[in-house]
Amino acid sequence: MESAILHRSLGKAYPTAVSGQGVYLITDNGQKILDGSSGAAVSSLGHGNTEVIEAVVTQARNLSFAHTSFFTSDPAEELARVIIDRSNGAFSKVTFLSSGSEAVETALKIARQHHIYNGEPERIHIIGRMHAYHGNTLGALAAGNNPPRRDAFSPLLSSAFHHVSRCFYDADGQGMSEGVYEDRLISEIESKIETLGPKTVAAMIVEPVGGATLGSVPPTRTYLPRLKDLCSRYGILLIFDEVMCGMGRVGSYHAWQQLGGVAPDLQTIGKGLGAGYQPLSAVLLAPKVVAAFEEGSKKSLKFTSGHTFQGHSMGCAGALAVHRILKRDQLISHVGEMGMLLESVLQKGLLSEINEYAVSMRGMGLFRTVDFGRMQVALGGPLAQEVADETFRRGAAVYTCSPAVDAILFAPPFIITAKEVAELSDIFVSALRAVTKRRKGSKL
Ligand code: PMP
Repeated sequence: MESAILHRSLGKAYPTAVSGQGVYLITDNGQKILDGSSGAAVSSLGHGNTEVIEAVVTQARNLSFAHTSFFTSDPAEELARVIIDRSNGAFSKVTFLSSGSEAVETALKIARQHHIYNGEPERIHIIGRMHAYHGNTLGALAAGNNPPRRDAFSPLLSSAFHHVSRCFYDADGQGMSEGVYEDRLISEIESKIETLGPKTVAAMIVEPVGGATLGSVPPTRTYLPRLKDLCSRYGILLIFDEVMCGMGRVGSYHAWQQLGGVAPDLQTIGKGLGAGYQPLSAVLLAPKVVAAFEEGSKKSLKFTSGHTFQGHSMGCAGALAVHRILKRDQLISHVGEMGMLLESVLQKGLLSEINEYAVSMRGMGLFRTVDFGRMQVALGGPLAQEVADETFRRGAAVYTCSPAVDAILFAPPFIITAKEVAELSDIFVSALRAVTKRRKGSKL
């Protein structure tokens, strides 16, 4: 029967996923697919986790929803406290939304309102980075710069958004030391601030580890602390968008904890927060941002941004269970171990491609990218989509990045075992070999 859903590709027949167990999803025709990217870095606990499901069901029985204009709720309060406690003083309040895009929109609005309450209403500009992805709503699209997702809508996007270079040393830093490369990036941002007018910039937003567009790109060593320092000097709020790289994905609770250890003023989280059991995201606020709102409230100013489903009780109860399991089962340190294993197994499997085509790997924790390097030149065009399709046919789902890179992102569930890591790598390598053979047979 023809699908009634407006899918991304209308010409494509999507298999129907009917159940999930551990790292596998099962389709209606019985095919077992290893979820090698947790969807889009979402299903960190894998599928069918009865403890999370029970927590959601119990909460649904007690209280499914109470509008936050009237009430707070126990699961939302408890989850906010857990997140604050695990962040070592970096944040003092949390607001929960349903998607990463909503969290980004909300963070941008909080930044704007912070400046209004502080008596600086002229701060209107937002600085983002090239090839960033911050979501699909118009504000989040404007903040990001993922051309295929953005181009059709650019006439609708605000001119208050500006973009500076990405931090991608392996691709852009050739012939330069890491230090010189970083110096250039920081001075480019400073020039942008000076050009816009130092007192007119409200916020800068960055993904600490790039994700959807370029595939797991960590920054250079001191980039994030220097960014924080620069922003602080100019009174600009720094927003870290950890919707994709946060919540344990790269082997620490927050990604920035491993990347210089400097906390932002605002942070977004999503995806792994509800681990796919519930659609939940959040904005985390540093004490200094909260203080501006407290001052504002003395003058009867309100936080004017709200969504109907924010702080949803079932979402928060599910995420609380996810947090409990992450801690009890020490899954974030398991991410570190399995991430290193995934990298070494892939490297072994791809040895001939690494030597012949400079195929490379990058990333942290269970957020790893295989970049096909010169393969597309040698084999008649980009490979990522064809390899991902072939990998799927052979039993594993992996994520394709934007056409800006010819690369595949791996982000399997945190519960993955060494045996499943080997299975994922074997399926992927065999798919790549099949595509290579096909390309050589047809074109070369
Ligand atoms: N920010 C980042 C860093 C993301 O990777 C994404 C989604 N890939 C979003 C925001 C948007 O999240 P959502 O799709 O849940 O709106």
